[in-house]
Amino acid sequence: MWFSHMSGFLGTQKPDRMTHATVQGMFDGLRYPLPTDENQFLLCVSCGGKNRVPLHRALHQPDKARCGRCQSPLLLTPDAPLSVAANQYRHPLDQKATEALEAIPGVSAMLRKVVEVTSERYDRLFNQSSYVRVSDRQFPHLYRLFQKAALRLSLRELPELYVYGSGEVNAYTSGVEKHYVALSSSLCDSLKEPELLAVMAHELSHILSQHVLYKTAARLFTFAAGELAKATLGVGQLLLIPLQLALLKWDRCSELTADRGMLLATSDPALSLTVLAKLACGSRRLSEQLSLDDFMQQALLARQAPEENVLDKIYSLMQTASRTHPFPLWRAAELWHFCCRGDYLSLIRHRGDLGDGTSDEPGDIADAETSEPS
Ligand SMILES: [Zn+2]
Ligand SMILES: [Zn+2]
Repeated sequence: MWFSHMSGFLGTQKPDRMTHATVQGMFDGLRYPLPTDENQFLLCVSCGGKNRVPLHRALHQPDKARCGRCQSPLLLTPDAPLSVAANQYRHPLDQKATEALEAIPGVSAMLRKVVEVTSERYDRLFNQSSYVRVSDRQFPHLYRLFQKAALRLSLRELPELYVYGSGEVNAYTSGVEKHYVALSSSLCDSLKEPELLAVMAHELSHILSQHVLYKTAARLFTFAAGELAKATLGVGQLLLIPLQLALLKWDRCSELTADRGMLLATSDPALSLTVLAKLACGSRRLSEQLSLDDFMQQALLARQAPEENVLDKIYSLMQTASRTHPFPLWRAAELWHFCCRGDYLSLIRHRGDLGDGTSDEPGDIADAETSEPS
């Protein structure tokens, strides 16, 4: 799910020892835009040279980062397929929430059964009779973008893609046995092509990260828990609440992984953050005037504030009130942290023909040169 009452985010990279202080510490000093004197070291897989690269340039012009010694590219160009598995960019909070969910005995088998007898059949019938299926003949430009996102993420089998009429700017992935991605008409109207590709990549990352069963179950349980409560005067809801809460918590954590997939697929932090900003804003007209710098400053400030348990409470209230608020600013702050302080650059490192390039051999320190003056 791209943007719904079940999307959202809470998190830091050190979930086991999460405190207010550590959350603040992680984001301390993180700025947007980046100061120009911040550097990162990148290892060249061709000659083993260690290159000091200005971080802002590596992030915004990855194709221009070249080894100072042998001129080989240090980072993948944006159209080259990534050779990373989804678990290499899985957010630690996604990992932790998945473990918590799977600690419930028999949960996967039970949810699979529930989904199979309810939404799986209904979904298929509904899609076939209500949604427009995208193909190389129907909206071919969308189909090409979809193929491109899948190729970049090295997804072998292209899922079905649909467009559905809705005023809500949204997209989601479903179909436990046979995956599909659905884009709302408002999303297609509101975003430019590279931004649509980014959203598609976010959705495909849910598939690659094997999120689809739990996401479908989370969506179903939000609906079914209420229905069951009505039928059982509230007793059923009491039984379902712990599982539902575990699912909802997992659901918003899974968004962080999918946002990373979007970023890796586009190699364009500003684009990925713009997409989050546009979806937070929601207005097509106002989106044209959005300041990404101001949005990110707000996001980084917001990220420093609450503790996880406070967010949990806010989130529960939102669920009750059926509010649609997926914390897009928090996701943006988290994604920017992954860009600047996380593994992002090492995941898009050019691996050449010399294996995976994970040698720890120290090379000479050389300032990387760009192929063109910047
Ligand atoms: Zn999502
Ligand atoms: Zn080199």
